[in-house]
Amino acid sequence: MSSSVVTPSISPDATGPTGYVAPVAVDAQPVAAAPFVRPGVSEGGTRQLVPPVNPSTIPGTIQVITPGDAPLVDAALNVLRTSQSGADIVEQLRRVGVRIAIVSDIEMDVLGATPTTQGLVDPDDQVLRLRRSSFQTDLRRFAPTIAHEAVHAIDFVSGLRQGAWFQRRAAVHAEATAQGRSNLETDEMLAQAKWELSIAQESRAVVVGAQVARELGVTSAVGVIDAMHLAEAGANDHATYDKVYMSLVSGDPGGSYNRDSRTIAAPLAL
Ligand SMILES: [Zn+2]
Repeated sequence: MSSSVVTPSISPDATGPTGYVAPVAVDAQPVAAAPFVRPGVSEGGTRQLVPPVNPSTIPGTIQVITPGDAPLVDAALNVLRTSQSGADIVEQLRRVGVRIAIVSDIEMDVLGATPTTQGLVDPDDQVLRLRRSSFQTDLRRFAPTIAHEAVHAIDFVSGLRQGAWFQRRAAVHAEATAQGRSNLETDEMLAQAKWELSIAQESRAVVVGAQVARELGVTSAVGVIDAMHLAEAGANDHATYDKVYMSLVSGDPGGSYNRDSRTIAAPLAL
């Protein structure tokens, strides 16, 4: 595939939340030559960190919330497709039927993003949102960020957010509360479990994003985000994942870590 930089024309920036508009399917250039590799069993162990896809959603299509933005999304996805890992991710986005929205700086602010955040996924509506102004930069440099957010979107659409482990703990807590009896699970423990799950999800997204950056010959590690530098300096493997995970955990000192909850949770480990 061509590796030339795609610089799409930019439509005027929206001035507020786009709201939900009938989505338009985007798949102008399906990757017929890139067979889908089942995550977890990929050859060489190079893509084992790509999250699983819920088979019940296959086949799907990538949808754009605002139809007029479809060419912009297509251009970005086509740049992603110039790398093997990026092509795999686009294929998974298509299979889980992800929705993508291009949003203004104002909407990013409303969503709580920092000024440097180029994309995010709301776990509740599972829409992958990308900052419109980021499309004005080199799309090859933007692509690793899209890949990172895509991993989150695939996770959420696939149901990982409600992972069995966390779901079980939440159920124990809810049942005991409903029956008015004491239980080992507490709100703090659930918060702890949620935090741990988020760190694991973030680690994988960082590692996969770095893998795409390597394949595209760019760097996405900006600022002082140690985890991203570690990911780009390593490979898409467990050693790098471990380093990234520990960096993210220690980068949130105190954070949601709750020593008492951890101690109590031990006997309930699933
Ligand atoms: Zn992330």
